[in-house]
Amino acid sequence: MSDVVIIGSGHAGGQCAAALRSSKFEGSITIIGEETHPPYQRPPLSKGFLSGEVGIERVYLKKDDFYNKNNITLKLNNRVNLIDKDKKIVFFGDNQELPYKNLILATGSRVRKLDVPGSSLDNVGYLRNIEDVENLKDILSKKSKVVIVGAGYIGLEVASVCAQMESDVTVIEMADRVMNRTVDPIISDYYHKLHQSYGVKILLNTALQSFTGSKSVEKVICSEGADLEANVVIIGAGIIPNTELAESAGIECDNGILVDKYCATSISNIYACGDCTNHPNELLNTRLRLESVHNALEQAKTTANSIIGEKIAYNQVPWFWSDQYDHKLQIVGLSGSHNEVVTRESEKNTSFTIFYLRDNELIACDAVNNPKEFLICKKLVANKVKISSDKLKDPTLDLNNLL
Ligand code: FAD
Repeated sequence: MSDVVIIGSGHAGGQCAAALRSSKFEGSITIIGEETHPPYQRPPLSKGFLSGEVGIERVYLKKDDFYNKNNITLKLNNRVNLIDKDKKIVFFGDNQELPYKNLILATGSRVRKLDVPGSSLDNVGYLRNIEDVENLKDILSKKSKVVIVGAGYIGLEVASVCAQMESDVTVIEMADRVMNRTVDPIISDYYHKLHQSYGVKILLNTALQSFTGSKSVEKVICSEGADLEANVVIIGAGIIPNTELAESAGIECDNGILVDKYCATSISNIYACGDCTNHPNELLNTRLRLESVHNALEQAKTTANSIIGEKIAYNQVPWFWSDQYDHKLQIVGLSGSHNEVVTRESEKNTSFTIFYLRDNELIACDAVNNPKEFLICKKLVANKVKISSDKLKDPTLDLNNLL
């Protein structure tokens, strides 16, 4: 029996175990994960780990001896196949079972796979785990002709690494601008031009039709007649939350595992955290499913608190970042329902921040190369600061004075 069983050895699962121990939880903790690695961070996979700047030891969430020292049992390379919620047992690997007192689902998400002709050709891949990156590193070279399907964060981050390795890079995107789901056209336009300045070709309003080749991919066939030569294809077409295990156990799911503000699911003693959840956010007055490190870490802490009996509601303003070339994009809040956008540029024009206002309330900000201002923005959005766009446009305004 384990006092706590965590399913999923990702960012949320690893952090949850760590948070339990730092809260002086003394019961037994077991993490069961289907990957072969101890919990690790995915952001470097499309950034420094892919470029080779960051070694594997910096990708892992904790040092090697952390789990032993903290008496956390890792059962890696094991998939949980079934939860018996009545008997409180999980079944995993080859007919192994483990009873639990509290169960945490940190099953994360998986890539959305595209089922187009030729998608099983060699060198057509996705980027979600360490092995995906290692395979990609093996086949990438200076002369690679790389086609990236999807101009979201991951696609563009991979494009920036490949372009800096002097590969020939083309990105195809169905929408009419890059990162269209998440940022204002001003940011899309800025990043489009940034990629072009590194020689990346971006084809907008272009849909993938098929891949052709004998064994490995040789061509990417797109709508609008585009016919691209390629020897490496990376697809970044979004993710799907891993909810099937929860659903089969009778836990309520709807675009994610439904949890309350304490990360509790519809079944007692079963919690969920990270990418796999659909959770309430009281600050934003809505339910959300997020794909971000900040959410995984904070929900992991909320879950740990619930288990030790300290109920502290999850109440965070979402934030996210993306690194492309030497440019840092940081996003806080949720834009989309805004009715005004204000841009403030730094004096030297090397950085800028976009402010999204809804009826004079600041609901989100996107900062480009502006980490100091971003820290202020996080507080302003959390405080739901009210300000007119005219006042915000004033370059002499010190944002600190709004706090
Ligand atoms: P995951 O990391 O998906 O971990 C879930 C784990 O559970 C996986 O190991 C999975 O194999 C395992 N699992 C699932 N089902 C079972 C089962 N039945 N039995 C056993 N194990 C199971 N976020 C940012 O905020 N900023 C970034 O810059 C950023 N960059 C990213 C770059 C890449 C390439 C990727 C892929 C993601 C990036 N993200 C970024 C998103 C961020 O990494 C995720 O939001 C975060 O990893 C979610 O953590 P998680 O633990 O919820 O899920």
